[in-house]
Amino acid sequence: MSTLANLASALAAGRIEVIDLTHTLDPDFPVIILPPEFGQCARFRMEEVSAYDHRGPAWKWNNISMSEHTGTHFDAPSHWISGRDVPLGSVDEIPAENFVGPVCVIDCSAETAQDEDFLMTPAHIEAWEAKHGPIPAGAWVLMRTDWSKRSGAAYLNMAQDGPHSPGPSAEAIRFLIDARDITGFGTECVGTDAGQGMHLSPPYPAHFILHGAGKYGLQCLANLDRLPPTGAVLIAAPLKIKNGTGSPLRVLAMVET
Ligand code: MN
Repeated sequence: MSTLANLASALAAGRIEVIDLTHTLDPDFPVIILPPEFGQCARFRMEEVSAYDHRGPAWKWNNISMSEHTGTHFDAPSHWISGRDVPLGSVDEIPAENFVGPVCVIDCSAETAQDEDFLMTPAHIEAWEAKHGPIPAGAWVLMRTDWSKRSGAAYLNMAQDGPHSPGPSAEAIRFLIDARDITGFGTECVGTDAGQGMHLSPPYPAHFILHGAGKYGLQCLANLDRLPPTGAVLIAAPLKIKNGTGSPLRVLAMVET
């Protein structure tokens, strides 16, 4: 049997489960809030065009609007100034094969339960690799924090000095790129960087380093607690927006049961 025929029969028999890592697009889902002097990210909005009525007797449909960076979404290299000259740096240009790949899930939920400003370091990654093996080149690396189980104000977790949420250190991102050549890095939080990432060096290191190296980000992921540490395959294909810097998307993982 061919590899794909094997895959199809495993899916049909339930030996491979498809897990949805996506939050529902909803006007109430939080978006990142920047200091007031900056432009702001739009929430999801839906406007009914018709609903089997005089505006369209046999059909129902809606117009929708949002930011490229609303809800569960993909960050392309062109999102950050460090990646603005990266070849194939916008969502419409990225080669489609980069949207499918192996995924490693680093569970930081115990640490983040104790410290909402937790920063994942290379030591955490190496401790994970000692148990689960090296992160393969081309992998997606997802940082599990259980942040997706929060809702409302606790999700952004804003304080007087800005948001407080976990993320990777600059050294961790450099390690994942230079030593492991990952495809991208994903989080459950509203950004790939920690809430206080503006105070790191460089500021917002995940954005700066990932996108400067032509790598991708995923944020607002859900259900990471349903993934094994290794062995799943991620499918994360953004909308093909011309010159788009990111896109809401449906993120799926195939997992062997
Ligand atoms: Mn983004």
